[in-house]
Amino acid sequence: MPSLEYLDKIPIERVSGLSGARGKALAEARIRSVRDLLFHFPRRYIDRSRIEPVAQLPVGEEVTVIAEVLSVSTRRPRARLTMTEARLTDGTGTIKAVWFNQSFRARQLTVGAEVALSGKVERFRGTTQMKSPDVDVLSSSSTEGLKTGRVVPIHPNAAKVGSGWIRRGIWNALKRARPIEDPVPAEIVSRRKLASRNDAFNSIHFPDSMKDVAIARRRLIFDEFFRLETALALNKRLREENQVGIVHAGPRELSERFVSGLPYTLTEAQRRAIEEVVGDMATSYPMQRLIQGEVGSGKTVVAVAALLVAVEGGYQTAVMAPTEVLAVQHFLGISDLFDQANMTPPDTGPDASLGMDSLFGEAPLEPTVRMALLTGSQAMTNFDSGAGRPEILEMLAQGEIDIIVGTHALIQETVEFASLGMAVIDEQHRFGAEQRNVLRQKGDAETTPDLLIMTATPIPRTLSMTLYGDLEETIIDELPPGRSPIQTRAVGRDQEDRVWELVTEAVSRGRQAFVVCPLVEDSEKIEAASAESEFRRLSGLLPELAFGLIHGQMPPRDKDAVMHAFRRGELDVLVATTVIEVGIDIPNATVMVIEDADRFGLSQLHQLRGRVGRGVHPGVCILLADPTTPDGERRIEAMVRTNDGFELAQEDLEIRGQGTVFAASQSGRSDLRLANIVSDRDSLIAARDDAFALVDTDPGLGSHPDLLAEIVMFFGDDEEGKTEWLFIS
Ligand code: ADP
Ligand code: MG
Repeated sequence: MPSLEYLDKIPIERVSGLSGARGKALAEARIRSVRDLLFHFPRRYIDRSRIEPVAQLPVGEEVTVIAEVLSVSTRRPRARLTMTEARLTDGTGTIKAVWFNQSFRARQLTVGAEVALSGKVERFRGTTQMKSPDVDVLSSSSTEGLKTGRVVPIHPNAAKVGSGWIRRGIWNALKRARPIEDPVPAEIVSRRKLASRNDAFNSIHFPDSMKDVAIARRRLIFDEFFRLETALALNKRLREENQVGIVHAGPRELSERFVSGLPYTLTEAQRRAIEEVVGDMATSYPMQRLIQGEVGSGKTVVAVAALLVAVEGGYQTAVMAPTEVLAVQHFLGISDLFDQANMTPPDTGPDASLGMDSLFGEAPLEPTVRMALLTGSQAMTNFDSGAGRPEILEMLAQGEIDIIVGTHALIQETVEFASLGMAVIDEQHRFGAEQRNVLRQKGDAETTPDLLIMTATPIPRTLSMTLYGDLEETIIDELPPGRSPIQTRAVGRDQEDRVWELVTEAVSRGRQAFVVCPLVEDSEKIEAASAESEFRRLSGLLPELAFGLIHGQMPPRDKDAVMHAFRRGELDVLVATTVIEVGIDIPNATVMVIEDADRFGLSQLHQLRGRVGRGVHPGVCILLADPTTPDGERRIEAMVRTNDGFELAQEDLEIRGQGTVFAASQSGRSDLRLANIVSDRDSLIAARDDAFALVDTDPGLGSHPDLLAEIVMFFGDDEEGKTEWLFIS
């Protein structure tokens, strides 16, 4: 019985009808083997039983007809205009089709060919006709070619090889490949009531009825998910077996001191999260855990409480943020928390002799945590006011720093740790898996540091199952008490004055505001320029307010200066680009104005909204927009409707579709061809359950060699032959 793997070794040129030039062209278009050909699924089907006879076509409606070409001709009624006309019949009547400037139609439509025309029916001088209908050639002549059944599959063209040729090739290939082997355990196939794989491939390409298509799709979709989830389960299992983690299992005094030193009590969800993370850290597996939680749900506190368990055990830890601004803010924020908990070390820098501690010659009573910031342009510590970049690097290598906060600069070659035991990555969707791995390799050769990934962009369950399916997941589903919900309003440009009135009024009550300028895709420069001009415009419009400006083109020092000034309340309104999207925490800011909000993505809008309402004062988010697209309208409407990040994430996934989401995450998991994580959610969940259960009982798939071989074929190597994501940490 041929397996997909076997069929993958048969070159496309061996398929009858696709040898020679056609085969070569297909191979260049990555349809190289019989396996590839079998995965070239029809893009739609025409059900003959539902095709209207030409004699009875409803005028004014969009329909598909199937008819034979009687004649084709091309005329040139005037310069720069060609007109191709075809007459066709289905036995009940004749129809005329007309195309303008599509002279290739004359070559496409040979006399005697059977074609499907899709378009709007018109009556013109007693003749039924269609203007510029879509054409699918079903067979190039009535005598030659494949007799299609009641349901006609329309395969997509590829590499200029017509769909008729492709369909015939698939027919021939299937004839020889049958019966196709099924490596999915029979127990699963029967329990899930799935069609056999062989039937599924036959019916997806040449169905007898649309019901057959549905049954075939169901099986093939399950297979796509099942392969993916089995690969993820194997990946996780292999990681656990092959990598030695660090058992972080101290008495947790440092962590508890930190928590009890906070000016608030943790939420139930935060406590639960800490337990989950710390529980994981105490095992000998290297942790890979994802923490998801709404903006402001207190993930950072959870991460620090966990880090301190590693620090207590004598390990170093790292916190990586996606931007400089955010790294600086994490550093300052965590420093504050340590101050509050009395855990900041005394200054040991050059000027430290003037400090109180050395005057009295007393060591601090509280346990302290030494922390440093290292970004591309900045370096500071919470214990040595004189330390610069070289000193920090040296101290890191010597193990004298407990927590290092930074950006990508942290994973540069020159950064060495004495004993990296745990890393936290904030907003992981901005990092590639690549960077994740480099950081992890900063641990010593034998052990793999624990990894905690925080994301404030909630990920719909089905997406995290596919993108992060090999990670553990912690969800913080509760906001700290006392937060007033943010009100969101959509306001048209014609009401802009009222928006600025509201901003002025908030400032007069001592509050602050953000104004986010229109997104300019692919050009930070233009975006910066538009932010600058908006800054000038608003400064002129509202001279009584103190405006600041921040955008991605500014040098990091200037950005920091502006953020500090805003934080200290020296500025009333911060005009910004999306550099403020992530993590910025200014509790006194209560108004967020987003200009041309319809042009932003939903998760971006939600992130931006999360920048206000972080303190005791209620926040308001104003979406200043006149949406010009249905999607834009839908995003605005969703923002006004809900504050729930998970609901918005789901909506976002539905609007954008999985393709863009996978592309944006730069993951190789876009190998879902039929399956859709939104509409085939149940199948995904079933496949995941079965895959993980299977790998639990048969960890290396030793008893399922065919399945393993298939999975390695799908996920093992990429085109260049280098191992893709499977089987790496
Ligand atoms: P996230 O990283 O999830 O967006 P943070 O950890 O930055 O959230 O917390 C947001 C703000 O809420 C911070 O100012 C933090 O000190 C505060 N905070 C965190 N947990 C609590 C809590 N349980 N009660 C009150 N405030 C909290
Ligand atoms: Mg945070």
